[in-house]
Amino acid sequence: MTRKRTVAFSPRAVNLFFHILTRCNLKCRHCYINPDQHGTATLPLNTIENWLKVFADLGKPANLILLGGEPTLHPDLAAVVQTARRLQFASVTIDTNGYLFHDILDRLTPTDLDYFSFSLDGATAKTNDALRGRGSYDACLAGIRRAVAKGFSTSLIYTVSTANIDELPQMGSLLEDLGIDRFFIQVLGIRGNPALQADRMAADRPLQVDRDRWLAVVPTAAEQIADRGLTVTYPKVFLSPRENFACAGKVADNYFVFPNGRVYRCPLCEDFPLHSLTLEKGRLDAMPPINENDLFALDIPEGCVMNRLIQPGNLVYDADGVPAYRIACCMLKEEILPP
Ligand code: SF4
Ligand code: SF4
Repeated sequence: MTRKRTVAFSPRAVNLFFHILTRCNLKCRHCYINPDQHGTATLPLNTIENWLKVFADLGKPANLILLGGEPTLHPDLAAVVQTARRLQFASVTIDTNGYLFHDILDRLTPTDLDYFSFSLDGATAKTNDALRGRGSYDACLAGIRRAVAKGFSTSLIYTVSTANIDELPQMGSLLEDLGIDRFFIQVLGIRGNPALQADRMAADRPLQVDRDRWLAVVPTAAEQIADRGLTVTYPKVFLSPRENFACAGKVADNYFVFPNGRVYRCPLCEDFPLHSLTLEKGRLDAMPPINENDLFALDIPEGCVMNRLIQPGNLVYDADGVPAYRIACCMLKEEILPP
């Protein structure tokens, strides 16, 4: 059996990425939350429940990922999970920085939740804390250990940038020691704080890893970590000539919901008022053009249109102006199963 596969987009299931608040106790250097675009509200429980119902009623299996800000700062998070279960969401995950506020581990059971998904951006406290804030490494590890001890299934998300790619291969032993079930490698997007920093940064100190370095480090590290008994997922990012390009905005059913009612289909659009949908009065309404849908329809030789617009630094052209490779949809993943 082959252990590695590209996870194809599917229109048959809904993936709901629900930011129930934007407030957070941390100030990560690479945070993608943009209060000017996403608002600063903490959604009341009854609004969250009404919005969950909208997606539960779409008539497809729906996976719910609860996000912030830091979602465990929401005092009603446990009730949100229980409502999602009642509405028969196919899976429920909480993404957290590991501080686990409001005694959330005592207010949920492992049968209520599919995964707690923790974020850590370094194999060492030095590297992680430089990106996520002093003390965040120890707090995250302590949160993971408490969650694992209570029987919860756990994932860990590692966002790769030039600041931490060197430590990615060291993550295997830490993940094994912590008892993590799934490891998600992410690629840093130039949105939120990174977009602000990119303006100020010298071109010789890019935040995003170039293609050669990515290909030299990430696939091998992912495979070695999977060999330790975890499922590992990483973004494709760079397409080979024989691989097809597909825009998830056209062929998948993903929703990125923010507390101000904006609903995006593409995370790379989130720094702009380009959302194609909005939640108002308990209804999901289409926005008038021009919105992200008009961008998904464009066919360009560089692959992803939004990548071309907001992070062209990861493209390379030959002398005739032809792109040397195409950039995949940011949601296209490779998955490696444990042996
Ligand atoms: S923990 Fe998440 S939401 Fe909070 S600052 Fe860091 S990246 Fe942003
Ligand atoms: S990241 Fe690019 S390819 Fe993916 S949904 Fe957005 S515009 Fe489409």
